[in-house]
Amino acid sequence: MPTSDPHIPFLDLKESNAFCSGRLIEAAVRVIESGRFLGGDETRLFEQELARFCGASHCIGVSNGLDAIRLILRAWIEEGRLEKGDEVIVAANTYIASILPIIELGLTPVLAPPSPVDFNLDFSRVEDFVTPATRAVMLVHLYGNPCWNADVCRRLHDRGILLIEDNAQAIGARASAPGLYGSQSTGALGDAAAISFYPTKNLGALGDGGAVLTHDPALAATVRALANYGADRRYHNIHTGYNNRLDELQAAFLRVKLPLLDEENARRHEIARIYDSRIRNPFVKRPAIISGTRQVWHQYVVRSPRRDELRSHLASHGVGTDIHYAVPPHLQPCMKGRFAHPSLRITEQMADTLLSLPIANVNPTQANSISDIINEFHG
Ligand SMILES: *Cc1c(COP(=O)(O)O)cnc(C)c1O
Repeated sequence: MPTSDPHIPFLDLKESNAFCSGRLIEAAVRVIESGRFLGGDETRLFEQELARFCGASHCIGVSNGLDAIRLILRAWIEEGRLEKGDEVIVAANTYIASILPIIELGLTPVLAPPSPVDFNLDFSRVEDFVTPATRAVMLVHLYGNPCWNADVCRRLHDRGILLIEDNAQAIGARASAPGLYGSQSTGALGDAAAISFYPTKNLGALGDGGAVLTHDPALAATVRALANYGADRRYHNIHTGYNNRLDELQAAFLRVKLPLLDEENARRHEIARIYDSRIRNPFVKRPAIISGTRQVWHQYVVRSPRRDELRSHLASHGVGTDIHYAVPPHLQPCMKGRFAHPSLRITEQMADTLLSLPIANVNPTQANSISDIINEFHG
């Protein structure tokens, strides 16, 4: 390998936390010395700070993103707004964690095609998938790109269909139009939203964490009880619940990082802009920059018919890449026989051509080098 080649890993979580490591250590000390590890001030304050950041009325810190989705759906079942067998429409190209809780709760996932333009649910087609059994639509803001179409979402809502956001990848993003309750921020667009603080996410904890956001006080109360054994107060269990709490250490770490998130998202935007202006290669299609929205670039995903060769080319020049996601959910072994629909073809074609470039730990100079290396790729 020539010595001039950069060595840019796809992701370096040590690097992601280095800029605030002193404050993270202080936060850990604060929690250890407080002797309070669950259900204390750190969690309560983080919930308030996150609700304010996203423009939602209620926030419940929970154990992870998958549990956040499960808690929302289970709460709607407890409230009688969903029941077993009801259909939940979700984009087929999502990460499998969006779909697992739907199946676990006995609901039926209906996989709808993504748009090749923004990789999100194709709003021109989603209404074709609505049946009398449809009770919810899951809006996954994939790769940090808001999944929102005010007209279609309003029509779905008016038909009594619940809108749940899987906002694991787009905290801090803004849609081009207001949501059901006036806020434009992802996490506050629909009836309820799930967030993940998995360490690789734009706002990453130092372990697992998640949150539920909603404007609905009754739903917030049900979720909070469900996440705490189903108890609405001590030794009073109104649901057969779970243990899905966020802990004080993670809440304290997240309180250090939340105020820095806008800056982090702006840095990602700057890198995306460099890629967009500098990558020029007939074998490489850049992702759309959607006007009027604020994307937060959880991933910068290009498409290439020669994806595997492009990936090797970058690797041979010291640049790490990843694929989100190499195998779509419906092709996973656990899903065998569950889905068979021609609309899944678009998702399969995407999975064969997508490539995520490094963005989490890249500086502008490195983004220029990566662009040049891509431009030297001859297919
Ligand atoms: C990360 C992720 C999840 C799951 O979050 P965890 O905190 O890992 O459970 C769900 N959906 C999407 C789209 C994700 O990216």
